[in-house]
Order: sequence, then C-alpha cells, then structure tokens
Amino acid sequence: MAEPLLETSGLVKRFGGIVATDNVSLAVHPGEIHAVIGPNGAGKTTLIAQLSGELRSDSGSIRFAGEDITGLPVYDRSRRGLARSFQITSVFRAFTALENVALALQAHDGHSFRFWKDATSDPALIEPARRMLDQVGLGPRAGVAAAELAHGEQRQLEIAMALATGPRMLLLDEPMAGMGRDEAVRMTGFLRELKQSETILLIEHDMDVVFALADRITVLVYGRAIASGTPAEIRANPEVRQAYLGEDEHA
Ligand code: ATP
Repeated sequence: MAEPLLETSGLVKRFGGIVATDNVSLAVHPGEIHAVIGPNGAGKTTLIAQLSGELRSDSGSIRFAGEDITGLPVYDRSRRGLARSFQITSVFRAFTALENVALALQAHDGHSFRFWKDATSDPALIEPARRMLDQVGLGPRAGVAAAELAHGEQRQLEIAMALATGPRMLLLDEPMAGMGRDEAVRMTGFLRELKQSETILLIEHDMDVVFALADRITVLVYGRAIASGTPAEIRANPEVRQAYLGEDEHA
C-alpha cells in the first residue's frame, strides 16, 4: 500500500481532567475516504481541530505528505494542502456563491489586503471560482447570495471554498449536519465524486452515509481509537458493536 498521506501517532489532547484524544494513531491513505465515528463526546471534533492546527496537541505527532506538521499553525498546514472545510460562519452571507469562492481564492493567494471588490471582478479569480462551483455542483447557483442557498447548498459552498485552497486532503466535520434526507443523499453522491480527486477525512453521524462512502473507518470511544478497518471489518468487530453500534441495523 502507498505511504499514508496523513498519519498520527500517539496523539493526545487534554482539557483539564478530560482526555479528549487519548493516544490516537491513525493513517489515511491517498484517495481514500476515512471516516471517524463515535458516540457524542468521543473526541471527533477535537481530533479534527488537532489535525487542522486549530488545537495544539499535548503529545504525539502528525505527519502529512511525508513531513512532520505537529507544531505548524493552521496557515502552514493549509499551504501544504491540508484543508478543513470552511464553516458557514466564515461565508459572507450577502455575497453570491461565486463571490465567496473568489474571496477564498484571493485569501489563499495571499492578497487578503486588496479590496473585496477586486476579488469579485478579477477574472483571474472569478474563472477558477466558477470552475470550483461547477465541480461541487453549484454552477447554476453561482449568482445566488449565500444566505439564499438551501442548507445543503451552503455546505457545498463551504467545500468549494475549501477546494479553493488547492488541497491534497479535506477534513470534513459533519457535512450532512442539519440536512434533510434528500439533501443528504445528494451530498453523499457529491462526496463520492469528490473522492475521485481528493483524499477525505470525514466525521459523520449518519451511519448510512458512513457505510456507503468510507473506505476505512476509525471508531473513537472516550478519545481512544478502539478499532480501524474497512466497513466490513468494523461491522464485524465485537468491541465496536458493543461500545458503539449496539444492535444498530448496520452493525
Ligand atoms: P459530538 O459528536 O457531540 O460533536 P465529539 O466526538 O466531536 O462529540 P468533542 O467535541 O471532541 O467530541 O469532545 C470530546 C470531549 O472533550 C468531551 O468530553 C468534551 O466535553 C470535551 N471538550 C471538547 N472541547 C473542549 C474544550 N474546549 N474545553 C473543555 N472540554 C472540551
């Protein structure tokens, strides 16, 4: 198997007496969707924040594309191609989908001190922004204000903005959160297509989505990775069934 694109070793994060990430070692290989699942409070969001650089780890290491990135700030990780999907709070709601992606491109290119109107009329930004919207399936909605997009479309916009940084790997924290069934099905199809070009670490509560999309799954319980394997291996793992999936129909 190829070298992992992302690899953590013995990663730890404590909040006071709580060990939110407890000695987590996992490997994500190029081209795979690696899902991290676990009950509420298992430490999934903490782990993503450690990977993206928003949270500093207490110990352990993170390697990305063959380099140790453990101590690097968010910006340096993003420059190396590790991108966390933007949260809707960082989207300019009054601006169109196209303008938002152009702004994300501009920020990544290091031109964030130019006036925003440059970004929204600069063909060097608008044209790639349009391609990115096409890629996520939002092309026909390019001219719609972000605030007017449906919930699922806003999540697609967030991913388009993350793609604007030219990532080698995307960290997606619950991309289906708050979606209705139809939207979730559409997003699942979209992520399956995205997999052709991106390596993805996905946190998701919806087990239908996880088992439909993931190549590998890591199960966190109380901050510990109790199992990592293919969906079939995870389904068959007695410790996982007991600790997490229970009598769930997918278990
Ligand atoms: P959920 O599925 O509910 O989003 P999660 O698996 O993402 O949960 P985390 O949000 O990472 O879990 O939380 C892991 C543990 O760390 C929890 O016990 C939580 O209360 C604690 N925790 C997370 N962030 C902080 C913080 N900033 N300060 C103190 N404790 C925190």
